[in-house]
Amino acid sequence: MRIVDGVYLVGGSSYNLSSGCNVYLIDTLGAGFILIDIGSEEDVEMVKANIIEEGFDPDSVSVLFLTHSHLDHSGGAALAKKTFKCKLAAHELTAEAIESGFQRSQGRLTPAYVDIKLRGGETLTFGKSKIEVFDASGHTREGGDLCYGLKVEGKSLLFTGDTAFKCDRGLMAGHPVSSWLGSRDIESIRKYLRSLENLSRAVKPDILLPGHGLLALKGGWRELQECIRIVSEYAEKISTN
Ligand SMILES: [Zn+2]
Repeated sequence: MRIVDGVYLVGGSSYNLSSGCNVYLIDTLGAGFILIDIGSEEDVEMVKANIIEEGFDPDSVSVLFLTHSHLDHSGGAALAKKTFKCKLAAHELTAEAIESGFQRSQGRLTPAYVDIKLRGGETLTFGKSKIEVFDASGHTREGGDLCYGLKVEGKSLLFTGDTAFKCDRGLMAGHPVSSWLGSRDIESIRKYLRSLENLSRAVKPDILLPGHGLLALKGGWRELQECIRIVSEYAEKISTN
């Protein structure tokens, strides 16, 4: 499904009701296609089929960027590398999990070599696309959460993985923060909050493309503010308990 020119949704629960994450495809206009996240191993074939359905050659996927190491986002990384013959890009802490084949909170995955190791703060150019990398640690206990920014036709897009969701009627609406972070101590909630605040200072997305649930096709920055509000309320609540 086309989101804006050159950016497509090619996987996720809108397609198959699996727990798989939203998978995005970016046409770099000159250096093949980029995937943002892949889902689990079971999702890779569907992603490939959706790329073909959009009229593109799956062999022209050049890089798969991972937002974090949770298995519903990264479990299919090894199979994706084989299927698309692409490079893998991830935070160095995510790379530790992918290369060792073990995600500390969620267990085993098929190991794969991570070709491009990131820390946040990088800007990578592929064809005519510039991918901005933002460190956003807090969602994954082990660290290594990244968000990716991209400008298309004057619009700012932000791929947020599980760091920020569409809030007003989406995944976070009415949900306590604990439902997607698990029970956490106040320090780690504060770390997550700081990441969201830094993110909203660094980028003002028009379109927010999360790892699950609805896409925020308008008012992306407002959704980010709403995430900050929800997480600060939660931090306040557990610090006074
Ligand atoms: Zn996650």
